[in-house]
Amino acid sequence: MIRLTNVDYTYPSGGTVLSDISMHVERGKLIGLVGANGSGKSTLLSLVSGLFSPESGTIQVGGVMSPGYEKRIRSICRMVMQDADLQILGATVEEDLLLGRTRNADAESLARSMATRFDLIEAWERPVQTLSWGMKRKVCLAAALLDDPEVLLLDEPFSGLDYSGMREMRAMIVENKKAGLTQMISSHDLECLVDLVDELAVLDHGRLVASGPPEQVLDRVREHGVRPPSSWSAGLGIVPWDGGK
Ligand code: ADP
Repeated sequence: MIRLTNVDYTYPSGGTVLSDISMHVERGKLIGLVGANGSGKSTLLSLVSGLFSPESGTIQVGGVMSPGYEKRIRSICRMVMQDADLQILGATVEEDLLLGRTRNADAESLARSMATRFDLIEAWERPVQTLSWGMKRKVCLAAALLDDPEVLLLDEPFSGLDYSGMREMRAMIVENKKAGLTQMISSHDLECLVDLVDELAVLDHGRLVASGPPEQVLDRVREHGVRPPSSWSAGLGIVPWDGGK
């Protein structure tokens, strides 16, 4: 469903952010993209979503190939950014969920049922500024799913959520998986998603240093001392990297 081949990316302001990334995600699978802050996770998701074009290499999503077909990739893929304030454009939940859609009874009923699924129906007419961080993220997720994508990209979906928000987000991800969506989810905190994923991909300074089934990747991380974010060590028995000393 998603295939990256030798992808490099440098922001126009300079400094290579991703180097020689090759990976493959099968349809319906959930892949966890993990790595420390600044390792390139958001950039990689933005490339897969068709927001940016790779500097070199190719990205294929559902058979559509970049470069040149980013617009078609965007019709298959939806990305939910880490910062909901950058993504919500409507003034109310209702307005945001119906934005860009022909307003008719069907569209409204679909949007309302999505709002109900995400426990947002009570907030249907509320100004978005009055919503909590977690609710705003759910508005973005609901809006993304209303477009009926084949691929869902979630950038740090757990950041800033309390325990119940995190449980809710995890349940939504599981529901999407059951519905057959292909999902790529970034997190600097492995523990939030390690038990949900089919595969893990570990980014370190813009390079893909390990990928595969979670048990294999964790073994590799332990063997090769790939530097894990500090939160990785808790609960997973990973000995923090000592810089090779
Ligand atoms: P992550 O999501 O893993 O935290 P990012 O993809 O956001 O990593 O960032 C990877 C690197 O790219 C960082 O060094 C960051 O400073 C840089 N970067 C991110 N966005 C931009 C941008 N718009 N212009 C220039 N550099 C950027």
